[in-house]
Amino acid sequence: MKGFAMLEIGKVGWIEKDKPVAGPLDAIVRPLAIAPCTSDIHTVWSGAIGERHNMILGHEAVGEIVEVGSHVKDFKPGDKVIVPAITPDWGSLEAQSGYSQHSGGMLSGWKFSNFKDGVFAEYFHVNEADANLALLPEGIKPQDAVMLSDMVVTGFHGAEMADIRLGDSVVVIGIGPVGLMAVAGANLMGASHIYAVGSRPNCVKIAKEYGATEIINYKKGDIVEQVMSLTNGKGVDKVIIAGGNNDTFAQAITMLKPGGKIGNINYLGEGEFIKIPRVEWGVGMGHKQIVGGLTPGGRLKMEKLASLMVTGKLDTSKLVTHVFKGFEHIEEALMLMKDKPADLIKPVVICED
Ligand code: NDP
Ligand code: ZN
Repeated sequence: MKGFAMLEIGKVGWIEKDKPVAGPLDAIVRPLAIAPCTSDIHTVWSGAIGERHNMILGHEAVGEIVEVGSHVKDFKPGDKVIVPAITPDWGSLEAQSGYSQHSGGMLSGWKFSNFKDGVFAEYFHVNEADANLALLPEGIKPQDAVMLSDMVVTGFHGAEMADIRLGDSVVVIGIGPVGLMAVAGANLMGASHIYAVGSRPNCVKIAKEYGATEIINYKKGDIVEQVMSLTNGKGVDKVIIAGGNNDTFAQAITMLKPGGKIGNINYLGEGEFIKIPRVEWGVGMGHKQIVGGLTPGGRLKMEKLASLMVTGKLDTSKLVTHVFKGFEHIEEALMLMKDKPADLIKPVVICED
């Protein structure tokens, strides 16, 4: 079968591989809609998780099951499914302790395009199909549902880690597709002021539609000063980091009230350390918490998030700015994600009509 792969750090291309084989609990799926992620860019061009040879890329997919293992109970060939980016081993000790993302070791629930071939292939393998796949609800388009695999669940996880409470004031740093879903998640969880930090006009417009109440342009002055001025010097209750660089943490800590929380979902692709400013962190005693997490996966999460789409509480179609028809366009879509033209939020490739 054909797949689009990371050949080595900095190099991508089409390769031929054997069709994957399903174990007793697994499924083999063919993609209906797939999307490249900024994480694929960090992985290939920053070498952020180290060298990988001839590894098929991609971890965002909606697909059709072509084969299931002998022990799979709830799915059969022909079922259309949402495939989460993160597919944990649910029996692992890490999963039992509540951190399924790290089943088998740090970040090991993230298998596609990390520890095994990803979804940019004619067929891909899903471990523990009953626990990791969710049926695509009737009436939801694959190109909209593929936003659930990673963008929605990640943005919402930023809001969960920041522990948004009714009436909280929240800064969301970065309003690419992940940050936009953090805005939507914070809004659904009851935030009051949502200060969205970005610069591209298209993203700014959509951020307002998802619930941002104020926009901060990081290219037009220091974002800490802008937040402080908008909050009469008080700062905010919560910060979600969905973009920026290693210095963004210092800014987030500075703009946070004592007792505030930071939920980081940004993938730190470069550098050795992040800095915590001593005084702004209350000389170590400010009760300002930082949680950074890999997005959750699994069937239950996908089913719950899909139900927000079914009930009309979440519209992911605003994220999808570029739609390609035909599997062979995956390279173009990935390059768009790398180059980030001003009008791009998220490209999707529809594998067939
Ligand atoms: P984008 O590149 O589309 O968006 C990044 C955002 O950050 C843009 O709004 C950009 O603004 C803004 N930004 C850039 N530089 C700064 C700065 N110095 N200060 C403040 N804001 C800045 O990325 P995505 O939304 O696709 O992804 C966001 C991150 O989430 C990536 O690192 C990705 O790898 C990661 N990720 C993490 C996952 C997880 O499991 N935790 C899963 C999926 C993705 P502008 O408007 O100018 O472009
Ligand atoms: Zn991703």
